[in-house]
Amino acid sequence: MDLLFTNIKSLVGIREPTEKRLRGAAMQQLPQLRDAWLAVCNGRIAAFGSMKEDADRLQPFATLPQRDCTGRLLLPCWCDSHTHLVFADWRAEEFELKIKGYSYEQIAAQGGGILNSARKLNDTSEELLYERAWARLEEIINQGTGAVEIKSGYGLTVEGELKMLRVIRRLRESAPIPIKATFLGAHALPAEYRQNREAYIRLITDVMLPRIADEQLADYCDVFCENGFFTPEETDCILQAGWRYGLKPKIHANQLARSGGVQAGVRNQALSVDHLEQMGEEEIQALQKSTTMATLLPAAAFFLRLPYPPVRQMLDAGLTIALATDYNPGSAPSGRMSFVLSLACIQMRMTPAEAINAATLNGACAMELEEEVGSITVGKRAHLILTQPIGSVSDIPYRFGNDIIEKVYIC
Ligand SMILES: [Zn+2]
Repeated sequence: MDLLFTNIKSLVGIREPTEKRLRGAAMQQLPQLRDAWLAVCNGRIAAFGSMKEDADRLQPFATLPQRDCTGRLLLPCWCDSHTHLVFADWRAEEFELKIKGYSYEQIAAQGGGILNSARKLNDTSEELLYERAWARLEEIINQGTGAVEIKSGYGLTVEGELKMLRVIRRLRESAPIPIKATFLGAHALPAEYRQNREAYIRLITDVMLPRIADEQLADYCDVFCENGFFTPEETDCILQAGWRYGLKPKIHANQLARSGGVQAGVRNQALSVDHLEQMGEEEIQALQKSTTMATLLPAAAFFLRLPYPPVRQMLDAGLTIALATDYNPGSAPSGRMSFVLSLACIQMRMTPAEAINAATLNGACAMELEEEVGSITVGKRAHLILTQPIGSVSDIPYRFGNDIIEKVYIC
């Protein structure tokens, strides 16, 4: 697509190509250009500048179709680096149990939770799974998401996991936005392996991983490292097997307890450790010395009434933070990134600038897509959000529940 955006009230998130991730205090800066233009050629950002000072550089693009953006902001699309959006069906039946006070662990122990999704998934055809996931993908694109990671983990059988990953591959082949695939065979222990945990872990390492590598179905390997799910030692074993097949780790850690998950992620050179509701000094120090992204999922904390991660402490320690939705039927039945930004600001006291950086460039980095998306940078894909007429970037998290998006451009 070729297009010239003119009279942009503020062009938000301008970065040099060398800026690939933002740490600690650097997340406070959100570079913007007032009264700007931006040219898109062949779907990529070709040039941008000030309407007044760079009018001469605009001239070569003056023949392109134009979009007047008076009063409106233009910013990079959200990069949602943690979702489970391939699933068979919703789990509204568990919603009332949660309201009545049953914990996540209690619901899981009754055969609800992830095992409920796994039963439904194994009974659903690949075609139907694909149709439903495609609808969710369209929904999040309309809400401003321009790159997404999707996990398996509701199969928990060889065929179920392969079916999910094949659905993700089909989505990737047809979708207008970049998609990364993560294998999450270690999402929960299937009931039939309760007395024989090692056998399920061997199924993951010796059967699932080789098949997945053979068909090139995944980019990353994930483990739900948590009390009642998988231990740090089991996590080591699975992540090391993943590395042998070329899959980098990207794990669930410290959602319910300080279970050693963060340290397990760091020692296995995880691309990201995700959740982090339960953090102490040791976990923060482990992340300080690493290149592992701390990915926060405040919509899941909101839905499960968990405490939120200590973000101010993490930012003071210079950590690099991303925000994602965790879109899934059990603990975050929404893929709306703007709501995640509102929670980040209101509940975790991130500033709007920090939250936008965490949801764009750092989110892209948590999927190794920082050279493609996540900022206004010449050469990157022109996946852009044009807002309605608004005052400033603060309006985006401030007016929670409302995307205030006029149009999403996936060029
Ligand atoms: Zn998750």
